[in-house]
Amino acid sequence: MPNIMPNIASVFGGSLYQSESGRSSPVFNPATGEQIAEVALCSKQEVAAAIEAAVAAQADWGETPASERARLMFRLLDLLEKNKEQLALAISREHGKTHEDALGEIARGIEPVVFACGIAHLLKGEHSTNVARRVDTHSLRQPLGVCAGITPFNFPVMVPLWMMANALACGNSFILKPSERDPSASLLLAELTEQAGFPKGVFSVVQGDKEAVDALLEHEDIQAISFVGSTPIAEYVYKTGCAHGKRVQALGGAKNHMVVMADADLEKVCDALIGSAYGAAGERCMAISVAMPVGEAVADALVAKLSARVKQIRIAPATDAKAEMGPLVTKQHREKVLGYIESGIEEGAELVVDGRAFRLAGHEKGYFLGGCLFDRVSPSMRIYREEIFGPVLVVLRTASLEEAVSLINEHELGNGVSVFTRDGGIARNFARRVRIGMVGVNVPIPVPVGFHSFGGWKRSLFGSHGIYGAETVHFYTRLKTVTTRWDERSGESEGAEFNFPKT
Ligand code: NAD
Repeated sequence: MPNIMPNIASVFGGSLYQSESGRSSPVFNPATGEQIAEVALCSKQEVAAAIEAAVAAQADWGETPASERARLMFRLLDLLEKNKEQLALAISREHGKTHEDALGEIARGIEPVVFACGIAHLLKGEHSTNVARRVDTHSLRQPLGVCAGITPFNFPVMVPLWMMANALACGNSFILKPSERDPSASLLLAELTEQAGFPKGVFSVVQGDKEAVDALLEHEDIQAISFVGSTPIAEYVYKTGCAHGKRVQALGGAKNHMVVMADADLEKVCDALIGSAYGAAGERCMAISVAMPVGEAVADALVAKLSARVKQIRIAPATDAKAEMGPLVTKQHREKVLGYIESGIEEGAELVVDGRAFRLAGHEKGYFLGGCLFDRVSPSMRIYREEIFGPVLVVLRTASLEEAVSLINEHELGNGVSVFTRDGGIARNFARRVRIGMVGVNVPIPVPVGFHSFGGWKRSLFGSHGIYGAETVHFYTRLKTVTTRWDERSGESEGAEFNFPKT
């Protein structure tokens, strides 16, 4: 049988490129379990060719006035809005998330593009006059050169846009290495960037796996790496990139807690927990995966309400307009999540809702898993310590707010957290003391909007810059400070000054 599987290409120097490495990775439709495409994985040499094209394109792009770059960004913004349906279909087909959720991802990905439209203002430097007699100082932010982004499967449009919008607006060329599990959306992004009028080669896509990542991390012409993915790979990317002299921001995994105080509105808490724990089948880095009721009475009431609601979640493929939760991304990932459920049972947690037997008629080979709820989880259990990244919510009962805060602060991951309460004093105190990067008060998924910055603490972020917003403009540029003396007087030498200048 001839291979008629669609072959997903890369984009170098503004043209589609089919890798000749001979290596490829299958792409599946998670709702049916069918293989729908093959992505050709670039070799080290092919990545080097993409970098060479990106270096060539950056020379002129970096000199293009910021206001001209912003105009192209406005066009990209418009094209993203106009093509969001097509993008959403590509996301759902390979990732499995519902259509509405895919549209939500695109909307949040567009925010940093809106921010990048203001790049001319954002790149303005500072100026001080007469810092010494007849001496002025000004600062400017210059592009780094070629930057690369390595992205996870769970947001195939939003996370690339978090990175590329500001990297390009700052005058860099940008190479995206998307997840090999859902690579098609990256090609649509390349197409829209080209249609917007960005010069050929300033935005490239290299499809690949570890070989391509290592090639980017080691190449001397890559100046900065943005990474989003799991914590072990984030740490590896950070250490390897830094060892090769690059600027690196590497965002990792998460275990996000929601503290539920006795005065909270339990109906609202349940809505928030159901949406944030089970939306996108729990495959979100800002999903709430631990509910922490404070006090036994709150815990009993919460678990009773939640168990009824978890069983009612409508699980269906993205083609069903009423779907609330889709399948997991791959068979292997589903097995990994099942392994966590087994370990929770073995370690003595109470599986109050068991979704393992869920089957969807007509989609028996899809990677669906029913929602699961664990009660009486303790801090030493793997299902509490590690990120599960599936539709599994664990309830860890606490006796006091103090106990909840110290457990959260002791956890090695620190992406997001939230507290539900009607007491402003508790909320303020919690937000100040908790050692977590993004905090929600009566907000379950506190993902900052595009003009703030996104980033966790502890082992959820390696590096010192958050992603998008003002932090990103600093990450993607290098500061230069120029001190000038313009002396209209001419005449005799004033002599050499051997001492360090005091002013
Ligand atoms: P992953 O770490 O497996 O993969 C991320 C990227 O790294 C992919 O492009 C992949 O090709 C590459 N990669 C994988 N293994 C590699 C290796 N050994 N060497 C070099 N590169 C490698 O992550 P994933 O499963 O695609 O995504 C889910 C993870 O991403 C979760 O842990 C989730 O919490 C995290 N995530 C974090 C954020 C955040 O903002 N902190 C956002 C989204 C996802």
